[in-house]
Amino acid sequence: MFHPDSLIPDFPILDQSIQGRPLIYLDNAATTQKPMAVLLASRYYYEAINSNIHRGTHHLARLATEAFENARKTVATHLNAATPDEVVFTSGTTDGINLVANILSLSGSIKPGDEILISTLEHHSNIVPWQMLCERTGALLKIIPCQDDGTLDPAAFLELLTDRTKLLSLTWISNSFGTVNPVAEMAAAAKKVGALVLIDAAQAVAHLRIDVQALGIDFLAFSGHKVYAPTGIGVLWGRAEILDALPPWRGGGEMIKEVTFRKTTYNDLPFKFEAGTPNIEGAIALAAALDFLNGIGLSAIQPHEKSLIRSAAEALSSIPGIRFFGPTDRAGALSFNVEGIHHYDLGTLMDQMAVAVRTGHHCCQPLMARFGITGTVRASFAIYNSQSDVQALAEATEKAVSMLR
Ligand SMILES: *Cc1c(COP(=O)(O)O)cnc(C)c1O
Repeated sequence: MFHPDSLIPDFPILDQSIQGRPLIYLDNAATTQKPMAVLLASRYYYEAINSNIHRGTHHLARLATEAFENARKTVATHLNAATPDEVVFTSGTTDGINLVANILSLSGSIKPGDEILISTLEHHSNIVPWQMLCERTGALLKIIPCQDDGTLDPAAFLELLTDRTKLLSLTWISNSFGTVNPVAEMAAAAKKVGALVLIDAAQAVAHLRIDVQALGIDFLAFSGHKVYAPTGIGVLWGRAEILDALPPWRGGGEMIKEVTFRKTTYNDLPFKFEAGTPNIEGAIALAAALDFLNGIGLSAIQPHEKSLIRSAAEALSSIPGIRFFGPTDRAGALSFNVEGIHHYDLGTLMDQMAVAVRTGHHCCQPLMARFGITGTVRASFAIYNSQSDVQALAEATEKAVSMLR
């Protein structure tokens, strides 16, 4: 049996009080806290092996290169990638999606009138890069509508798929509502019309087991900082034959085979897409975070987080005028508003009770517009949260509501 309280000593930041009250951290969809294993991996890198990678002949360069490439193997194993060459280190989800948008655009394979399909649930970072690509190429952005329960409309999705659909780019879990999209099923439908499929796994990575081969997709992007690793590191996984066929985007060191002033030849995967010195420490710490996650096991984490989110919805449901967003079977995040009260006021008062939640549009303005709201209060959960955090959330919300009424 898995006890979240036993994890608290692993997360030094959680062991603190804010104005005399113990910190209750429920903003995990924005970023997660880091366990000692990750902090030590970062520290080990700088204290013991800091060096630039790949071209060095000296001892530290060899150790740093080995640690960095081992981190790539850890990520590949975690994702069940066919080979570590399919793992491109990025600075995060946003960077990974922009990378795909740019290399598709540069490849010339997106033509005027082609269609890019995204959904109403998307984070701005899975909207704006496609709008930019559409502006450059003359392609059209199509949007899968969202139903009142916060799930995507499956019939409308199938109708939107045509032989002009070149790419489906879809979030696995909504960071705003906790909706879990049936991504494998949707990818299979998109494949039937010959579209490429990109999955935004920024939220999924901390909550779901990822098997890129079983998903039947072409690209998957996530950020380290949402899975207990540092900021500034992320992963773009891409199918080798597809990445191989696409041109590089950023030029510079590392991504080349040979440079002359007349012509430059490009490096093999994954280095072709990793121009410049990467975030070496971040990659090593990300591998430590995935080891930490797998040490506990997603099969233990999932029921724990599910029970927290269910109890939270149950505990809050007695508040008069509360409105939840998203389906009852959520992952990660629980979003709500209370009638007549602004989400920002609610969140501010909860902060005074040391309960950290997020308020606002959660980088999903079109989704908020779809529901006729400017934002929500969002409580989001991670492995170290416990039923007592849920209780603190409910008490703080009730108290804040009564103060504001
Ligand atoms: C956080 C998030 C992003 C953006 O991640 P960055 O780390 O800011 O690049 C994209 N999509 C979803 C679903 C997210 O939750």
